[in-house]
Amino acid sequence: MHNEGIGGWPARRALMSPYSTALLFEDEPTTYAELAGRISSLAAGLVAAGLTKGDRVAYLGPNHPAYVETLFATLTAGGIFVPLNFRLTAPEIAQILTDCGPTVLVYAPQCADVVHAVPTLPQYVVALGNPRPGETSYEEWLVAEPGPAEVEVVADDVAVIVYTSGTTGRPKGAMLTHANLTWNTVNLLIGVDVGADEVTLISAPLFHIAALAQTLLPTLIKGGCALITPGWDVDGVYELIAKHRVTWMFGVTTMYAGLAAAPQWETADLTSLRSLMCGGAAVPEELVHTYQRRGLTFCQGYGMTETGPGVTFLEARESIANVGSAGVPVFFADVRIDSPGGGPGEVLVRGPNVTPGYWGDPGATATAFTTDGWFRTGDLATVDADGHYRVVGRRKDMYISGGENVYPAEVENVLFGHPAVAEVAVIGVPDQKWGEVGRAFVVPASAVTEAELREFLLGQLAKYKVPVRFVFLDRLPRTASGKVRKADLPQ
Ligand code: ATP
Ligand code: MG
Repeated sequence: MHNEGIGGWPARRALMSPYSTALLFEDEPTTYAELAGRISSLAAGLVAAGLTKGDRVAYLGPNHPAYVETLFATLTAGGIFVPLNFRLTAPEIAQILTDCGPTVLVYAPQCADVVHAVPTLPQYVVALGNPRPGETSYEEWLVAEPGPAEVEVVADDVAVIVYTSGTTGRPKGAMLTHANLTWNTVNLLIGVDVGADEVTLISAPLFHIAALAQTLLPTLIKGGCALITPGWDVDGVYELIAKHRVTWMFGVTTMYAGLAAAPQWETADLTSLRSLMCGGAAVPEELVHTYQRRGLTFCQGYGMTETGPGVTFLEARESIANVGSAGVPVFFADVRIDSPGGGPGEVLVRGPNVTPGYWGDPGATATAFTTDGWFRTGDLATVDADGHYRVVGRRKDMYISGGENVYPAEVENVLFGHPAVAEVAVIGVPDQKWGEVGRAFVVPASAVTEAELREFLLGQLAKYKVPVRFVFLDRLPRTASGKVRKADLPQ
């Protein structure tokens, strides 16, 4: 039986480098041989419990080795893995569980209250902590029925259902096949020199596609070490970088801004870092320069859950020359812009990394594709003569002021360059005279007035782009991946 699934990746890697450290969690190493062994027992446990091809296994909890084991065991057993956002509330989790109907739910102790507030739970509830009556303990599953549990998987079988971030509405369950994840890994490895000596810090939540597909899978396929942390805290990250000589990491803008704002920034030894990866949202140009001054560069990418996620990629060595760009199309994907009149247009993607659709939602799937099979990203971008893409924002975020298109991301990027601005979001609001005008929400880093910010923008942007009002907030409403939920800004 030849298996095209990715469930066997750790086992295949264990044949090459059994004694290398695959996972490092709270100073506890797991070798590839040990990881492959645990995955194999867990897969046997799943099969013994009656899991059959295509059944869903959901995982709810912060980053932990059990996530990695459950992921690969589920795929080995022919199931579909569904990572859940542990920051969601019980009604939100209940809604997702109803949507994807898992047979098994594995949950971390931190999530016990949420789980037990869900009215209808899956058939098997597996606790990483103390199981309640009727539940199974995770360790019990791990020692269940040893024996062959590998189920034949072909490349086009669905491997995971990853719910989108919910930035623009209810999260949608994007299906990704084994082929989608394999090709995304190939695309990533063409762009980044991940090595067997990699020490990859994975602090970004693994329930999002970026941490899973852009760091965990490439690290493990190469035999590197995935240094997993349950969360993100600046002091902890500085400590881990120093202690484990971290070579590579993924983060979102807010994480990197937090590191640069910390007192350790000037003094910490960051020489082990070969590159930093940033994605999920545009990287403010100012931040790229801040890191450059420290001798560090970003690989940046643009993508989304539905595309596994890489769509365009900007290599680290290009990041200064092309600051503000999201790079060029990944190797195995076709990307184009739907812009009949020139100017920004919707980004369309076609390739082996693109989702077959949304779980149980043929209507949403149909509208997500053009009639000739291109995936509509809902994002607007321009492409320059060198083929570099610039994401100018979401189609839905654009507003029209006095007949002129305004892309909030552009305004946000300029505002972010003001030293007193820590965080910013711009939206269009109805206006009698202009149709729509901008409103900026600013989290100040230090004292600043509306007039100062307006003055700052007027020096750099056309007047119609400058927000009419500036609202100061303590923080912005964000998704777990750090994106601003614009619909939740105070009206
Ligand atoms: P939802 O689809 O539920 O509203 P979401 O689109 O934020 O949420 P994700 O799939 O996590 O969910 O995020 C993908 C989106 O993030 C892209 O469609 C794009 O809008 C934005 N994005 C990702 N990378 C970049 C980037 N480099 N520059 C600008 N925007 C980006
Ligand atoms: Mg989206």
